[in-house]
Amino acid sequence: MNNKPLEYRIKIGYYCFPVNSLGPGNRFVLWTKGCNRSCFRCASPNLQSTTGGVFYSTVELIELMKQSNCSGLTVSGGEPLIQAQSVFSLLQDVRIFLPEWDIILFTGFLFDEIDNNIRSKLSTLVDLLIDGPYIDSLNDDLGLRGSSNQKYYFFTERLQPFAKELESHPHPRRQLFLLSDEEMISVGIAPPREKYI
Ligand code: SF4
Repeated sequence: MNNKPLEYRIKIGYYCFPVNSLGPGNRFVLWTKGCNRSCFRCASPNLQSTTGGVFYSTVELIELMKQSNCSGLTVSGGEPLIQAQSVFSLLQDVRIFLPEWDIILFTGFLFDEIDNNIRSKLSTLVDLLIDGPYIDSLNDDLGLRGSSNQKYYFFTERLQPFAKELESHPHPRRQLFLLSDEEMISVGIAPPREKYI
């Protein structure tokens, strides 16, 4: 009998590190591919289609994280929960292999509309969940959420010391990352429309 843990694959748009605009400290951030919410002025419209992206195994991602010198993981998208089983497997491995790391996850679903089993997994594997679709007219440029309808769920004590900063400080300064010779991304929470140049 093979006792090796199951290795899952996650389709992601891209990842980068060290990011300090999507949670406390230096973070490893990955954006999953695929989302059917179609929020008006979504910050990542290129991640909505499930076409494209690259599959990474949970083992590969854990190795990348170990080499990153970060102290936390932020999972965004796209919609991470359309790959819930694979994402949970990754978060489980983070808890095992990087036990000091904290975990933040963004979902476009409302926590209350999520299936009970998934909610229960989220509340054990995630330190901070930020839920709900992005509503452009409610972007008040505050906190780690894109718009004021989105709620914070602190499932553990780990990120509680940062609660005020995460909930009510101005959006953190965005960072630019080169993904390749041809692709650059701006990482962080999108500002309200009037602040775009
Ligand atoms: S839930 Fe997020 S990724 Fe999906 S459309 Fe809305 S803003 Fe874009």
